[in-house]
Amino acid sequence: MQTILQEHSSKRAIVIGASMGGLLAARALADHYREVIVVERDVLPGTYEPRKGVPQGRHTHGLLARGRDVLEQLFPGFTEEMVAQGAATGDVVDQVLWFNHGFYLCNAPSKMLGLAISRPMLEGSVRRRVLQLPNVRLQDRCDVLEPAFDRSQGRVSGVRVQSRGGSDGTQMMNADLVVDASGRGSSSPAWLGALGYPKPREEQIKINLGYATRQYRRLPEHLRGMRGAIIAACPPDWRFGAILAQEGDRWIVTLGGYLGDPAPTDDNGFVAFARSLQKPEIFDVVRVAEPLCPLMPYQFTANLRRHYEELHRFPAGFLVFGDALCSFNPVYGQGMTVACVESLALRECLAEGTQDIAGRFFRAASRLIDIPWQIAVGSDLQHPRVEGKRTTQVRFINWYIAKLYRAAQDDAVLASRFLEVANLMRQPTALLDPQIAFRVWRRNRASARVDTIPRGRTT
Ligand SMILES: Cc1cc2nc3c(=O)[nH]c(=O)nc-3n(C[C@H](O)[C@H](O)[C@H](O)COP(=O)(O)OP(=O)(O)OC[C@H]3O[C@@H](n4cnc5c(N)ncnc54)[C@H](O)[C@@H]3O)c2cc1C
Repeated sequence: MQTILQEHSSKRAIVIGASMGGLLAARALADHYREVIVVERDVLPGTYEPRKGVPQGRHTHGLLARGRDVLEQLFPGFTEEMVAQGAATGDVVDQVLWFNHGFYLCNAPSKMLGLAISRPMLEGSVRRRVLQLPNVRLQDRCDVLEPAFDRSQGRVSGVRVQSRGGSDGTQMMNADLVVDASGRGSSSPAWLGALGYPKPREEQIKINLGYATRQYRRLPEHLRGMRGAIIAACPPDWRFGAILAQEGDRWIVTLGGYLGDPAPTDDNGFVAFARSLQKPEIFDVVRVAEPLCPLMPYQFTANLRRHYEELHRFPAGFLVFGDALCSFNPVYGQGMTVACVESLALRECLAEGTQDIAGRFFRAASRLIDIPWQIAVGSDLQHPRVEGKRTTQVRFINWYIAKLYRAAQDDAVLASRFLEVANLMRQPTALLDPQIAFRVWRRNRASARVDTIPRGRTT
């Protein structure tokens, strides 16, 4: 404890990027560093609005139940504060329609609470809470050009930055630790290469999603009073749609398709795409609701993971965090929650000191990323044209989840268990617990009997 306090009083950390990843990294660093400076190239808005550096902020962002739990732990009273500002909460199992594999999950009360909130409001609120910490400050309109490297010590000693506020010159900012939270487009692999260090292995699963998103006015009669509906991509067309409630009595609606089947960004085309989904709930809203903004497109090419934990040489004084480590197919809503749990992992690693902090953090983060990565990539590999290795395990899990969905259409225990795993509240092995597997088998057997009854016959 003594050592930690001494370190705390003598060090400065710099975070590159003030999006969810950077803010959550800063939250963890603030407990261990005397000063934390978050450097962001954008001008950060005082109101809740999307910004250039986070273009995904215009699109549907669901916060998983695990993410909300961690935010509550890091910022006590967060949910209540959001609700006071107009966000809606809702039971994830009972108040959202989940359609996949040809079936809806059963709606029933559960203990999982979701927060229906726009991405700009979520990020803006986390930013406000982080900046209330006395030792954290933000420098926006400031581009990090590269890390500064002290060759004699073999460590990163700060960053070279360029202010966007008018001055032409570049400036050095010294730090004991630099954390790269600059997102999926992170330059860390290139920086490492230029410094003579090996680059991390990159894993990619290409999905080429074409998204389109629009906000609508939300009326109480829409969607039978539910908080949202998720129509997942599944055969035969692999089109998907999500509609979620947000603050200010708004819906956010995102439609999309895989591998060259983008949702159109013209009014008629968008409504027709909504009509083509396998279930009608989203179409029923968009055909009557008042649009509140233009249609916004987004292209998402691939799940992308950088394996920093495998590197044997890595400079001291440097870390990579958030989407810069791993960026998932957004339809599973995992990125912000993974940044939340990485923040807890970083805090734990720092509690043991800063010696080999990068190695220890990368190994811990990699273990945390493994499960959401398997969920995202495993599900994407159901699409026959997505390229990647379909191991026996992946094929078995996908087969089993389809059976589970079918069984969970009228089984609240199965629906809750599935959503606990999808919300990263439980390990996927919880789906294979004997009593769960038995329920899946029993209900599929019963449904199969009903399916094989010839038409016109009654039981
Ligand atoms: C279309 C889409 C939808 C998504 N939906 C969901 C969802 O439903 N749920 C969910 O949990 N996650 C979702 N995500 C993922 C989520 O947005 C990210 O996981 C989350 O923002 C954390 O990312 P990050 O902070 O690491 O990086 P980013 O959000 O990409 O932020 C990087 C930041 O770094 C700044 N920056 C970059 N370079 C520099 C530099 N050189 N100097 C200074 N600043 C710099 C940028 O301006 C930006 O502010 C979605 C992503 C996409 C693309």
